[in-house]
Amino acid sequence: MAYYVEEKLSSSAIGARRPIINEYFLSSYTMAIYNGCEFGCPYCDGWAIQPRPLNERVRVPIDLPERVRRELEELDRGDLVGITALSDPYQPAELTYRLTRQTLRAFADYGQPVLILTKSPAVVEDLAILERIHASSLAIVMFTLLTIDPHLSEKLEDRAPAPALRLGAIATLKRAGIPVGVALLPILPYVNDTDLMLHATLNAIADAGADFVIWDYLLIPDERHRGRINEMLMRIGRYPPAYYRDLYRGRTLPDLTYRNERDQALLKRCDALNLPVRAPHALYAGRLRPQNEAALLLKHTAFRDSVQGRVHLARQGRELADLIYTGKATDVQLRASPLYNTLSAILQRTRDADA
Ligand code: SF4
Repeated sequence: MAYYVEEKLSSSAIGARRPIINEYFLSSYTMAIYNGCEFGCPYCDGWAIQPRPLNERVRVPIDLPERVRRELEELDRGDLVGITALSDPYQPAELTYRLTRQTLRAFADYGQPVLILTKSPAVVEDLAILERIHASSLAIVMFTLLTIDPHLSEKLEDRAPAPALRLGAIATLKRAGIPVGVALLPILPYVNDTDLMLHATLNAIADAGADFVIWDYLLIPDERHRGRINEMLMRIGRYPPAYYRDLYRGRTLPDLTYRNERDQALLKRCDALNLPVRAPHALYAGRLRPQNEAALLLKHTAFRDSVQGRVHLARQGRELADLIYTGKATDVQLRASPLYNTLSAILQRTRDADA
């Protein structure tokens, strides 16, 4: 069990606006509730940036909800805040401190869009607050799910709630009308990336009624983390570290050929299941700042373009998305996009509001 250190925040709670919008989480701001994570999953990037073991000490910023309220005074109501930063908001500390619940209440009072990323079905206990947020703006819950195999999950993340509990929570939230996504994060080469396993996971996600899925690959930012991953591989017991040496070759991400091949296989399977591979436009249309909505639509389209080999179109779409998000896109640049008519209709809302 972790020990908790109660403290007052020494910096802002929500932080600075992101220079580019986060296409996975739709967020213009990123924040964490707790600092440290008792779930302590061995593949978590948090191990690489925490000075102490990630799951040993959890810092509890007791004044966070109050700070969030003050900072929300300054935020545009069309900017979504992602509670997604390297610390699960429903880890065991939440049972004692309820900082996530108090923070969500602040979002509900101000009508600020929010996306919350967790591995815990405990998020369902805050359903009434999420419904309040979603009634006035946008509330999305995303569950991280690597596999539905309970034995593998036990080896990979023994302190996190079982996959079946997460799938049950997806169905509950969906029945209540809250949009739900799944983050297949990370894809671990040789561990949860086989066609058989990915198909089983995606089928279960679709059956639970999730609105969309995203994925990305295991990041190994430094040698310390590489050592931790090697230990994890030996504990799982099937794959020697040499496999990862060949695939990573000292880099932070696996080989591009591998990623392209897996991206194509995942996209094909999701299309067969009618499971969107990014948040569908209808889910956030009219609920975010028009520039954010247009930028996300472009980035999500660009993802599909890049996986299907339309590389130049994908690059063009991403560049235009960043220009729109920062308010720097010209009409000439907009007209060059195949999505011009849709983008123009979305951005017209800004012009109408300014008139
Ligand atoms: S639950 Fe998320 S934040 Fe916590 S250790 Fe696991 S991956 Fe990291």
